[in-house]
Amino acid sequence: MLQSSTSVPFVDLHALHAPLQEEIQQAVRQAIDRGDFILGQAVRNFESDFARACGVEHGIGVACGTDAIALGLQACGIGVGDEVIVPANTFIATIIGVLHAGATPVLVDCEADTALIDLDAVDRAITPQTKAILPVHLYGQMVSPSRLQEIAERHGVLIFEDAAQAHLARREGHTAGSVGIAAAFSFYPSKNLGAAGNGGIVVTRDENVAERLRALRNYGAPQKYVHTYRGTNSRLDSLQAAVLNVKLPHLETWNRQRNEAARTYDRLLAPLQNRGIVPLRNECDLGHVYHLYIVRVDDTAGYDRNVLARELGRVGIQTGIHYPIPCHLQPAYRSFGDGEGSFPNTETLCACILSLPMYPSLSEAQIQQVVTSIEAAVCPPLASETPA
Ligand SMILES: *Cc1c(COP(=O)(O)O)cnc(C)c1O
Repeated sequence: MLQSSTSVPFVDLHALHAPLQEEIQQAVRQAIDRGDFILGQAVRNFESDFARACGVEHGIGVACGTDAIALGLQACGIGVGDEVIVPANTFIATIIGVLHAGATPVLVDCEADTALIDLDAVDRAITPQTKAILPVHLYGQMVSPSRLQEIAERHGVLIFEDAAQAHLARREGHTAGSVGIAAAFSFYPSKNLGAAGNGGIVVTRDENVAERLRALRNYGAPQKYVHTYRGTNSRLDSLQAAVLNVKLPHLETWNRQRNEAARTYDRLLAPLQNRGIVPLRNECDLGHVYHLYIVRVDDTAGYDRNVLARELGRVGIQTGIHYPIPCHLQPAYRSFGDGEGSFPNTETLCACILSLPMYPSLSEAQIQQVVTSIEAAVCPPLASETPA
C-alpha cells in the first residue's frame, strides 16, 4: 500500500518560490530602500506590465480581488438600483464585490459539465434594470467571449469579468481581462499569480474608468485633498507589487505547466470515466490555465465524494472542494435565490466535485500516484490483497 510519506500536497508554494527566493528578497529590499511604500514605482511598473499582458492599456492596483470587483463596478458607473448578473457557482467574493458596489446580484445557474455560468440563463435573466453581466472565468477557464459579447450587445449591457482565477487564460483569441469594459483579478497567494499577502487589480481599456478607479482607491481624490468621489483606501501595496514584478515573467510558463499537468490527469483518468470519475470539460484547450483541476464524483459511481477525499487523505494526498455550499444557500445570502432547488446544476456540482492537487511543479509521477490512489479507492482490492 502507498504510505503517507509519498504525499502530494494540494498546492506547493514553496517549490514555486524556491528558485526565485534571492530575486524576491532583493526586490523587497529595494522597495524598502526606496521608501515609496504607497503607490510607488513597483506598483506603477506592475500595473502597466500586467495590463499589457492582458492586452489592455490600464491597470489599477487595489488591496484585493474583492475590492477590484467592488471598485471596478463603481468606476463603471454601476451601483444602487442596478442589477448585475452573476453565476451561482462561484466563490462568495464575487457576490460580496457586487454588494459592496451597492448593486444587486442576480444569480443564474451554471452548466453541468464546465461549471461555468449558463449563458442561456444569463440571456433570460436580463431585465431593464440589468447594467452588467459579471462572468467568472472559473477554475482557470474563460466563459465564451463571443457569446458574452453577442448577449451584451443585443441587450445593451456591460461585461465586467471576474478573472480572479484566470490570469492570462485565453479563449477565441481573447485574453482574460480584455473581453468587457473592465476586469478584476486577485493576487491571493494561491492564485495562478499570487502575492506574499493580499493584492488585486482592475484592468481596463477605458481611460475614464481607469481615471475614476485611481481616485476611488485613494480616498476618492484625483488630486491630493480634493475628494471628487466617495472613495475608499484600497491600494496594491508596493511590497506586494515588488514580489509580483518578480513572479509575472514566469506566469506563462507556470500556466503551461498547469495545463500539461491537467492533460496528464485527463489521460490517466480516462479509464475511470465509466466508474463515475469525470473531469470538468475543457472548452479552451491550451487556453485553460487550470487554477484548479476538478473531477465530478458522479452518483453512478456508488460512492461519495467525501469518502474519496478521506481515502486520498489517508494516503497523504490533499484535495479540496470548490465550493461545498453554493452562495444562495449560505446563511448570509439566502435572499439571492429560492432556497434549495433554485440552481440545480450548481447544487449538484457542490455536492459531487473534488479538486485534485494542481500546481506548476506537479510531476507526472505525482499525478500517477493520485490517479492510482483514486483507482484503489473506487475499485477496492480483493480482501486477500488487503494489507494486515
Ligand atoms: C479569490 C477570488 C476572489 C477574491 O479575491 P480576494 O483577493 O481574495 O479578495 C473573487 N472572485 C473569485 C472567483 C476568486 O476566486
